Amino acid sequence: MSALDDLPSLARVIAAHGLSARKALGQNFLLDLNLTSKIARQAGDLTQCDVLEIGPGPGGLTRGLLMEGARHVLAIEKDARCLPALQEIAEAAPGRLTVLNADALGIDPRAHLTPPIRIVANLPYNVGTELLIRWLTPPDWPPFWQSLTLMFQREVAERIVARPGSKAYGRLALLAQWRAEARIVMHLPPEAFTPPPKVSSAVVHLTALPAPRYPADAKVLERVVAQAFNQRRKMLRAALKGAAPDIEDRLIAAGIKPTDRAETVDLERFCALARGLAEG
Ligand code: SAM
Repeated sequence: MSALDDLPSLARVIAAHGLSARKALGQNFLLDLNLTSKIARQAGDLTQCDVLEIGPGPGGLTRGLLMEGARHVLAIEKDARCLPALQEIAEAAPGRLTVLNADALGIDPRAHLTPPIRIVANLPYNVGTELLIRWLTPPDWPPFWQSLTLMFQREVAERIVARPGSKAYGRLALLAQWRAEARIVMHLPPEAFTPPPKVSSAVVHLTALPAPRYPADAKVLERVVAQAFNQRRKMLRAALKGAAPDIEDRLIAAGIKPTDRAETVDLERFCALARGLAEG
């Protein structure tokens, strides 16, 4: 038994600290510690790792990560109301939890972390998607993290692991699968959260590849993929009009028919197109 086991239930913590969920911060809390430990286990053996957790809230997942043996957890939470509850967890796990009261979109956490680093989070979906794109598109690879274990709305999770030709295939699938191995590892119904959101959720686990599957400049690939899928029903020669004066030739050189639609083009050919466009 560790002092972590003696902490009060999350329902009590929420009541004691008046942590009524705020919609604007996307607060849907996980109160079942068996479930949060199960999510923590999806991140693998954490005993030799620093974990970056974004949005700990009252600390359910934070407790799961610490109970599963994480060497150190850096938790970044925007809502200052959660700090006293998180402080209690820090006291129960001396030296293993650091909490920063900050907006995860406005802070570079790397100075507070020692490699190897894994990222685990249950975040509001718009913040989660934005952070995911940032974590996947630094100029250099491999990144500062080894893996990402992230909760998303189920529909977003399906977009991350989607294959060419499917409705869910697009920017998220291409950027995630270019530099990482991505899979859905858990499904959660709305009732797993308090208050329950309108939709189901899923946990996606992404492992950073040692090198991208195909060479390309991250910014160019990000831009061309965003433009191609912005008008996904259009043929690529129309959707990418403006990307280059001779876009039809560039498409053909990359092995893409100018009349193809973005959703039929695989990662290898998008990377070839990005390389061609980067040449100017
Ligand atoms: N991890 C907790 C759990 O699983 O029960 C809370 C999850 S709740 C879906 C999302 C958390 O992210 C909330 O605590 C919210 O205050 C926090 N949050 C929202 N936007 C944030 C941001 N930009 N930076 C850091 N934390 C944020």
